[in-house]
Amino acid sequence: MVTLDPSKVSSRVRVPAVAKNLFGALASLASKRFTKTEVGCVRKKGKAFVKEIALERIYRLFELAGKEFGKGNVERANRYVGVARKISSRNKATIPTELKASFCKKCHCFLKKGKNSDLKKTDRWLEVSCWECGASFKRRLK
Ligand SMILES: [Zn+2]
Repeated sequence: MVTLDPSKVSSRVRVPAVAKNLFGALASLASKRFTKTEVGCVRKKGKAFVKEIALERIYRLFELAGKEFGKGNVERANRYVGVARKISSRNKATIPTELKASFCKKCHCFLKKGKNSDLKKTDRWLEVSCWECGASFKRRLK
């Protein structure tokens, strides 16, 4: 009786413990594999995929900046421009030319034609003048 009890106890304890260890190991392996595949997916989709998302966010931020500027929240609009610039620089996604006319090259504030900026269009160039800081600059039209 004395010899049987510890064996029973040990068997009862050991089997689930081993199973637990196995499951744990399998789970960790599975999770590791999952993360690897995830990384692989990002690598396969590549930088173009990241750029796409970045561009989407830039467009959305400029849209929001326009709305806030209309409401009179100029500082918030300028902040949205700053965030959009940061996103573009970090993900190597250039801000599209049609949006480049809507912020100042020098002071990075949000510009709206007739309110705080002036636009002159030629067939090759877009001349923007900022009424906030007095800078004027050209953007090439593609
Ligand atoms: Zn300016």
